[in-house]
Amino acid sequence: MRKIIIAGNWKMNKGLSETIEFVNTVVSAMKDIKLNRTQAIIAPAYPFLHEALRKSVGSGLQIAAQDVSLNNDGAYTGEVSASMLASLGIKYGIIGHSERRQYHGETDATVKARMLKLFEQKITPIVCIGETLAQRDANLTTDIIISQLNGCLSEIKLQAGTEIIIAYEPVWAIGTGRTATPQQAQEVHALIRKWLVDNYAPEVAENMAILYGGSVKPDNLKELLACQDIDGGLIGGASLKAEDFLAMVKTGAEN
Ligand code: PEP
Repeated sequence: MRKIIIAGNWKMNKGLSETIEFVNTVVSAMKDIKLNRTQAIIAPAYPFLHEALRKSVGSGLQIAAQDVSLNNDGAYTGEVSASMLASLGIKYGIIGHSERRQYHGETDATVKARMLKLFEQKITPIVCIGETLAQRDANLTTDIIISQLNGCLSEIKLQAGTEIIIAYEPVWAIGTGRTATPQQAQEVHALIRKWLVDNYAPEVAENMAILYGGSVKPDNLKELLACQDIDGGLIGGASLKAEDFLAMVKTGAEN
């Protein structure tokens, strides 16, 4: 059975004390939650990864980075490499988020290159894909998703023990309060799973967690998780409040 993943993408929110307070609260409350197959993850900003890791060590909460450099080391001001993340103990890295694509020139090719950097350090990529509203309205969702999967994943070899998580995030649903309906999300998740069968193997498709992202909150997570191919959420705004995050972890655990 696949894992259920509840992953909070904090973006550029929360400073040191807020990060510590959140992690302490969540780690302590998670002791009373039987997680079953649920994995809880948060992605704080780079400066606070170390403290978040320190405070969550040995708990059910994992810490992710929000991005990673294309380079290993050297004169790349402002960047953080996969080996630096690995040296902290980071196990997950978000790549290809629509905000990185929109504001920082991220493309499918750079997502793929970053994925390879994460693999070298045994960090699991959380690969974000999704169509814009204009693309959906023009009936291009299937084409865009297939083209992003081809661009990000083709020629990527999945060896034993290599894990990838895919996050389907329709851009029109991110931070807008407008969630895809469970049917709309399930349709795209099924398409992604079929692409994985066709391009890898049924076992790879069966084991890969595909998350939905776009205005997920405690109120709508349960119906999304009820869909056959939705294995969790990549959650922005609603992951910032400890009680909401915990409510969503509980929903995952009860699923
Ligand atoms: C996200 O940032 O990946 C996201 C889905 O944000 P929100 O949940 O706020 O829509």
